[in-house]
Amino acid sequence: MPDKKVVIVGGGISGLSFASQAIQAGYQTTLIESTDRMGGCFDSHRLQDFSIELGAHTCYNSYRGLISIIEKYGLVDSLLKRNKVSFKVYHNGKIEKIVKHLSFLEIFSSLPKIFQAKKNQLSVKDFYQTILGSRNYKNILGPSFNAVLSQDAGPFPADSLFKKRERRKDIFRSYTLQAGLQAITDKVSQDKRLTTLTSCTVKTMEQNGPRFQLKLSNETELTADALVFATPVSQSAAYLKDLNPALARELAKIETASVESVGVMVDKTKVKHPPFAGLIPTDDNFFSVVSRDVITHNKFRGFTFHFRPGLLDKKQKMAKICEVLEIKQNDLASTAERVRVLPKLNMQHKDILAKIDQALAGGNIYLTGNYFQGLAIEDCINRSFAEFERLSRQLPT
Ligand SMILES: Cc1cc2nc3c(=O)[nH]c(=O)nc-3n(C[C@H](O)[C@H](O)[C@H](O)COP(=O)(O)OP(=O)(O)OC[C@H]3O[C@@H](n4cnc5c(N)ncnc54)[C@H](O)[C@@H]3O)c2cc1C
Repeated sequence: MPDKKVVIVGGGISGLSFASQAIQAGYQTTLIESTDRMGGCFDSHRLQDFSIELGAHTCYNSYRGLISIIEKYGLVDSLLKRNKVSFKVYHNGKIEKIVKHLSFLEIFSSLPKIFQAKKNQLSVKDFYQTILGSRNYKNILGPSFNAVLSQDAGPFPADSLFKKRERRKDIFRSYTLQAGLQAITDKVSQDKRLTTLTSCTVKTMEQNGPRFQLKLSNETELTADALVFATPVSQSAAYLKDLNPALARELAKIETASVESVGVMVDKTKVKHPPFAGLIPTDDNFFSVVSRDVITHNKFRGFTFHFRPGLLDKKQKMAKICEVLEIKQNDLASTAERVRVLPKLNMQHKDILAKIDQALAGGNIYLTGNYFQGLAIEDCINRSFAEFERLSRQLPT
């Protein structure tokens, strides 16, 4: 029986990827999730054999950490290649090609500045305005980056947005699964070596010497040799307020933004638009539409609208969806809604992270999530794997 106890709080890909390492190395691992469903932003809404993604939707063959989990859980043969369909622009009520909104003249005249602009010193807006032109940024690049991040991407550090990662040529360039990406987190959370507690939170936590004593909302207690927080940053800050105030103060400096997502499934005969991967609005009350047209289905098409927060109520969102897709409300076969909170990174972020890692050093608290290297799934997994390495050095089994 393993004797070192690891408790992880938060059942998204950050918590689950940490858990996959911990159970494999032989730690007695418990994962606490506040909702009734594991996966967090891996959130596939399913109807019959069709699914749409309410959160993360695109994974690449450069996500080596994710692929290592897919391999570990025997899911490689379940991967589906995404069809090559293009992203379109939604402009003044019309679906148009991206190139129509790009000024090539401005690109050519700005390109020489590529040598002056330092990606690691500039925000997304400053970097891309410099190398591709401010009109291009305003008309199409800014809206495209907002669509990628489901928030205003302008202040983000440019080097945290797209990263060069080595590809695995033996895996589809971009892929999903028939039952959606949540099939991955479902599989990890069903690992028999992992104890999972859903609809559960930590009520109190105390440190007694090297161990932690936790009281949970289900009125049980747990002890832990190591405590891992994999919740959204604001939640981790709240949890750590008494346990490690200095750390909590640094976490509280990281701002957050919410996104209101509504996914719809429609009988495919009702949608006249040809297949598209997604829509980028030039100026509207949604950040993006992500479609499931990347996977062909005989009956349904699916679309998830990621709305700007606080602008539309449910009825207005449904009306907007019908307007964009040119369908009627009773054409909708199934709908689902979510609100998610994402970190807003800015140019001060690296300094905050350095202080967070300083405050963590030498202790038995571990932090992971999408507010370290970046928001992408692979960034979360890389952080979890690095934190697990620290744990295995400090607390060998
Ligand atoms: C709309 C959207 C689209 C995206 N698309 C992509 C994409 O295509 N490709 C990509 O690489 N990345 C994408 N991302 C980013 C990526 O999906 C996320 O950054 C990543 O999945 C976050 O994982 P996480 O585990 O850190 O956080 P989360 O997935 O948010 O998980 C945190 C978990 O903690 C739980 N929790 C919260 N409070 C508590 C508490 N008090 N106690 C216990 N548990 C708690 C939550 O319920 C949740 O399950 C997208 C994100 C969003 C929102």
